[in-house]
Amino acid sequence: MLRGMKRLNRYENRILKIVKLGGKLVRFKQFGFSTKTAEGFRFPIYVLEIGKEKAIKRNVAGLVAGVHGLETIGIRVLLDFLDDLFARKTSELYEEIKSGELGIVCIPILNPGGVAMKRRSNPGGVDLMRNSGVEAVKAPFFFGGHKISNFFPYYRGNVLQAESKVLDRFYNEYLLPAENTMIPVVDIHSGFGAIDHVWWPYASTHSQCADEFLFQKIANHLTTKFNHILYKFGPQSETYTTHGDLWDRLYDEYQKTKGNVSSNSSRFLPLTLEIGTWSDIQLDPWKVFRKRGIFNPTRETKQELIISHRKFLANVLRLAKMKLTDLD
Ligand SMILES: [Zn+2]
Repeated sequence: MLRGMKRLNRYENRILKIVKLGGKLVRFKQFGFSTKTAEGFRFPIYVLEIGKEKAIKRNVAGLVAGVHGLETIGIRVLLDFLDDLFARKTSELYEEIKSGELGIVCIPILNPGGVAMKRRSNPGGVDLMRNSGVEAVKAPFFFGGHKISNFFPYYRGNVLQAESKVLDRFYNEYLLPAENTMIPVVDIHSGFGAIDHVWWPYASTHSQCADEFLFQKIANHLTTKFNHILYKFGPQSETYTTHGDLWDRLYDEYQKTKGNVSSNSSRFLPLTLEIGTWSDIQLDPWKVFRKRGIFNPTRETKQELIISHRKFLANVLRLAKMKLTDLD
């Protein structure tokens, strides 16, 4: 049996519990399968639709986690967020979902094979965030993505992987046709640095994306209005550049098909929440020697850390029902 199978089952049970808690407001779909393991096994990849069907079409926000199999803290932050949403049933966000003002579409675990195998890459050894085919202007050697061999981490792969295609389908079915002014999507990762970063495109280049000004306005709205001052906002390339970022690819797709048609047209706004988990290394120096150590916080601080992102996620997702002038 794969070493991470128990963990994957635990997360899938929590997803089913959320479906049950959400009642009529949650629909559970299978969107495809992972890449096959060496033994020929494939893992199903699930999507949750949260809210009324018309809201999913007109005012949708996205939430994704589990792109890298070792970054399980992101999956837990996502599941905790949904658990809390349906357990309390009192938040403003819950009311907006219930009344049909807002819908959320969600891939809780994009890389279930990586979770089951306890590795960053998918079962084919491909790093999904290096897999989109986008060439960076200049990326750091190795870490920025390479085509040497799937024996090493950060391998880009030669073709678009099954998991990356599931994200494509998710984008094409929900995000591309959405009618809201701002279509926010949060993809939750962990492991880089000591603080929490919130990144927007591009990962591949230092050139500004078409929505740079809007992203900065959103960052300003989140820090001044909601006091999310502990998050460090900016384009991903400010921190590091990589080849093959999946959001870079989808963002460019969107610009090609729908971008900047008019001042009130929809904007596709992918954000990566990179939860910093290196800060407690000083408290627990041995963690750097444990396999999962760098990517996950120590047990004691974990629950506190998970809960701390609830409000931030709610405030980002609620952009889906706002107008651009609401940010002024
Ligand atoms: Zn990651």
